[in-house]
Amino acid sequence: MTARLHVDLAALTDNIARVRETVAPAELMLVVKDDAYGHGLHAVVNTATRAGVRWFGAFDVRTGTAVRAAAGDAVRIFTWIAASPDDLRAAITAQLDLGIGDAELLEELADAASDAGATPRVHLKIDTGLHRNGVRPEEWSAFVARAAALQAAGRIDVVGVWSHIAEASDAEDDDARAVFERALQQAESAGILPGVRHLAASAASFARPEFRYDMVRVGAFCYGIRSAGGPSAAKLGLRTIARLEAEVVAVQEETVRIDIGAFDGLPSSLSGRAMVGTPAGARRLGPLGGVQSLVETWTDAEVGDVVTIYGPGRSGEGTATDLAELIGTIGEEIAVRISPLIPRVYT
Ligand SMILES: *Cc1c(COP(=O)(O)O)cnc(C)c1O
Repeated sequence: MTARLHVDLAALTDNIARVRETVAPAELMLVVKDDAYGHGLHAVVNTATRAGVRWFGAFDVRTGTAVRAAAGDAVRIFTWIAASPDDLRAAITAQLDLGIGDAELLEELADAASDAGATPRVHLKIDTGLHRNGVRPEEWSAFVARAAALQAAGRIDVVGVWSHIAEASDAEDDDARAVFERALQQAESAGILPGVRHLAASAASFARPEFRYDMVRVGAFCYGIRSAGGPSAAKLGLRTIARLEAEVVAVQEETVRIDIGAFDGLPSSLSGRAMVGTPAGARRLGPLGGVQSLVETWTDAEVGDVVTIYGPGRSGEGTATDLAELIGTIGEEIAVRISPLIPRVYT
């Protein structure tokens, strides 16, 4: 296999600095779910810790534990999916911060913590309209009252209140923020004064200062992936960090064959739609096979020529988000689908 994902860690470092200066004094939590959006968890975590990142967003406990192993004890690691009592025990052992948006789960956590003789750090989640998880507004008062009681008993340490928003329309996000504000007031009335209130992901963290609170949870922008329909990475002051390449393995009459395909994570709906980069400039990506795909040929095409599927845009290709927009999805979706079998090459 010649396909490679080149990841520019210096660009990652620059993006992290750019995001931090944009959101300051709010803190950056770097989101590293899905193997750091397909870029490779270890390299990303190591680079980010050296760049001074102190918070990581790890989605599930397995990822959180892996971040702990890579980054050591000095960082805070936020996970928001704990599915089982085993997960809760593992999270407590690894000293993860836990996002809890369910009354029953809060009790399970408090029990697991008592068994372990630990006082886990908890971020209470209000459902501000996404209905993914989170405590509904009508149940929030009782939830924060119970959390305050568990805190008073020394069984948990409530450090945060948070939610997640769609970032699809300003009006919906404003409604969500109003719900968040009410939830913060109710938490305060119950005696909870969270040190870290967090609501925004990439798009809102740049475009909507009032959504930053104490911390923003950013994945996409740190990886140089702009929002679909949003401003370019360059306009945001960000650099694309990844370039997906494959080599020509056969030259035919009207097409060349490259050895990357749908089994490697390229959405087959890109066939005939995406432009890819070649030594002669942009060419159309043809039918995608499982492990090989066709690309419109060019003069003097040779076996071994490099074709860029997406990247910083030097030879006619687009970015991950450009590809995503062709098929009605988001850039993250393209990045995280790239097969783990394709080597990540770091520079
Ligand atoms: C993925 C995720 C983020 C990061 O979103 P980006 O748009 O990639 O910055 C933030 N918060 C939660 C809860 C997420 O699941």
